[in-house]
Amino acid sequence: MNNHLKSIRIGINGIVQGVGFRPYVHNLAKKFDLSGSVANTGDGVLIHVAGNAAHVDGFLEEIKKNPPALSKITDITVLPWADPPDYNDFFIETSDAGHVRTTLVSPDSACCNACLADIMQPGNRRFDYPFTNCTNCGPRLTIIRKIPYDRKNTSMARFVMCRECLQEYTDPADRRFHAQPNACPSCGPGFSWHDSRGELIAKGSSTAMDQCARALAEGSIAAIKGLGGFHLAVDANSATPISRLRSGKSRRDKPLAVMVPDLETARSVALVNGQERRLLLSRERPIVLLEKRLGVLPEELAPGVSEIGIMLPYTPFHHLLFARPSCPRVLVMTSANPAGEPLCIDNREAISRLHGIADYFLLHDREIVTRVDDSVVQVVRGRKQFIRRSRGYVPAPLQVNGLSGSVLACGAELKNTFCLSRENQLFLSQHIGDLKTPATMAFFQESLRHMQDILGITPERVVCDLHPDYMSSGFARSSGLRVTRVQHHHAHAASVMAEHGLEEAIAVVMDGAGLGNDRSMWGGEFFYVRGCECARLGHLVPIAMPGGDAASVGIWRMGLSLLDAAGVDITGPDLPRPLAAISPENRSVIRIMIRKGLNTPMTSSAGRLFDAVASILGLRQEVTYEAQGAIELESLARRAAGAGIPGDISAGSKSLIIEREGHLVIDSAALLHGLLNQVLRGTPAHVTALDFHTRLSCSVALAAEQFATRHGTRTVVLSGGCFQNRLLLEFVTLQLEKSGLSVYTGENVPVNDGGISMGQIFIAGRA
Ligand code: ZN
Ligand code: ZN
Ligand code: FE
Repeated sequence: MNNHLKSIRIGINGIVQGVGFRPYVHNLAKKFDLSGSVANTGDGVLIHVAGNAAHVDGFLEEIKKNPPALSKITDITVLPWADPPDYNDFFIETSDAGHVRTTLVSPDSACCNACLADIMQPGNRRFDYPFTNCTNCGPRLTIIRKIPYDRKNTSMARFVMCRECLQEYTDPADRRFHAQPNACPSCGPGFSWHDSRGELIAKGSSTAMDQCARALAEGSIAAIKGLGGFHLAVDANSATPISRLRSGKSRRDKPLAVMVPDLETARSVALVNGQERRLLLSRERPIVLLEKRLGVLPEELAPGVSEIGIMLPYTPFHHLLFARPSCPRVLVMTSANPAGEPLCIDNREAISRLHGIADYFLLHDREIVTRVDDSVVQVVRGRKQFIRRSRGYVPAPLQVNGLSGSVLACGAELKNTFCLSRENQLFLSQHIGDLKTPATMAFFQESLRHMQDILGITPERVVCDLHPDYMSSGFARSSGLRVTRVQHHHAHAASVMAEHGLEEAIAVVMDGAGLGNDRSMWGGEFFYVRGCECARLGHLVPIAMPGGDAASVGIWRMGLSLLDAAGVDITGPDLPRPLAAISPENRSVIRIMIRKGLNTPMTSSAGRLFDAVASILGLRQEVTYEAQGAIELESLARRAAGAGIPGDISAGSKSLIIEREGHLVIDSAALLHGLLNQVLRGTPAHVTALDFHTRLSCSVALAAEQFATRHGTRTVVLSGGCFQNRLLLEFVTLQLEKSGLSVYTGENVPVNDGGISMGQIFIAGRA
């Protein structure tokens, strides 16, 4: 038997603080009969161990193989420990904040099963206690002010642990050993119930939750303070409060997400496949977009859309609310902010901003340090796709090769996120929103400061979009750092290439409009990308946008424009009915604008093409939220989908690709021409909607394939907001894979503008 002694120092980096790492190491050292210590440092965890050599090796192996559930090790270094002191114990050292700060902060995590059992068990001292947590679950990012992650550096600092909580906190054998937010009813935060003006009605968490459940059952709107912000909650089966909620939030049609108590309830209102089930139950607990069951939930929740966003309870409070018999089974839970503004997090701020919307407030006294919205995902062809990457995922790093230094990428304008890099690690921020109001811009700056603080990153350079008028570009210019500008759609392509570690690809970017290198508005692009270089090979044929930005709201302008491009007399009587209803004067004004180029930029944007077709098919002529026309067009087409792509359409798509000024372009006007007969003949709109999807997909795939052959690559990346359209993504992918190409799209980074900042860094971070 090998009896010789060994002593080493182990440095571990990654998400290793606030995830029960020190108690885990402590228990493991005891198991292997080793002496030494473990400490949180500014850059991770440092372990000193000494003992039997075989035991030391076994200890190290075990850490690598079975680290704690919420941890994520990115790096382990092992050095000899020259002269271990002569003692025979293993202990946890108190934190050392003096080091370089390169440690990682854990995202917030859903209530674990053990804690759920505690709160549901009468007699347990945490029975019915909504702020229960342990080292395996609970709040993290949302409560951390600075690192190292210790209670004094969180918003739990003001709650002094009671004797029993402290006992758990200091007992290495306990699940709550060094659980920083540890709390119980006698020492921790609590809820209180308030009226619409914020006046206290009842104190005590249990009473407050009882009243909240009852108020929801009676059709009231409750503003509920949660983990990363406030939710507005109403009974999802009650039409009146839903319409009150919509008018209060100025959110006319945009789908509302719901929360249900369990998987069975989710299944009763929507279809759930295996991958979707895993996401619903994951500890990140995102909102998952699911195919609605027809006629179960009221149409008002997501009018004109075939999907509904569903999430399961993620805080102990959510479980306890649903445990009340009076609580409705399906609750609308939408972020509590007037449209376009950031989430409310502060009690007083919430009362003043939500006054007139909420009938009641359920408040608590644990401060939310960082606002974080719910994440939104969908599953396409068995793969996760982020619509919004926020709670549960942020600030976990994304690992990318080939970067150096620290860079800040400011992102785009809509659905903004920023991204910070430290060598090969990228930290994508939570969803910030549309940078159009001072409040959102303030949120951008506040989150940036916080992320820099908790990650210890000081950027040396900054990247922004080519568009000079974006608030994010203005922020970059005012930073005083060296600025690199990156074309919007190139950044879309790069975000996917970064995620999959690709050096060379044909990129297809189907997106809303963004400023192109030639100063025109791009958005339906084919690129050849290699390293940081990007060549534009082709695009959708540019169509006129009469009225500029006005045409992305009044999409009837795009409808008329596309008809005009297809050679239809838009002032005459032979128009699809909804457009014929527009006054002849207005129609001839549009024609004059197009002919003379008056306030009428041209755009190759795929988003605008979807708008045009949605208008022509009579889905709607004005949109009330971004991409509404496209989303409803997809939902309509899905009603006819299922039969696959008819072969003759796929063959006919070849003729849609034409050569123009050295570029291959997809002739959307000719595409429309093929559909126009159907429209005028009165073919059911869902058939034409599907036909449009298949024709566009086939011609896009064919063009991509030609480019791939020409450039000798077999890799195609698909990016841009339009690829959230599941039909488009599925059809294009299928066609390309049929031709033997490898197809990549965003899985851990949104393909919409939420992923732009990551693409920007991938390009500029190595330049
Ligand atoms: Zn737990
Ligand atoms: Zn306590
Ligand atoms: Fe975009």
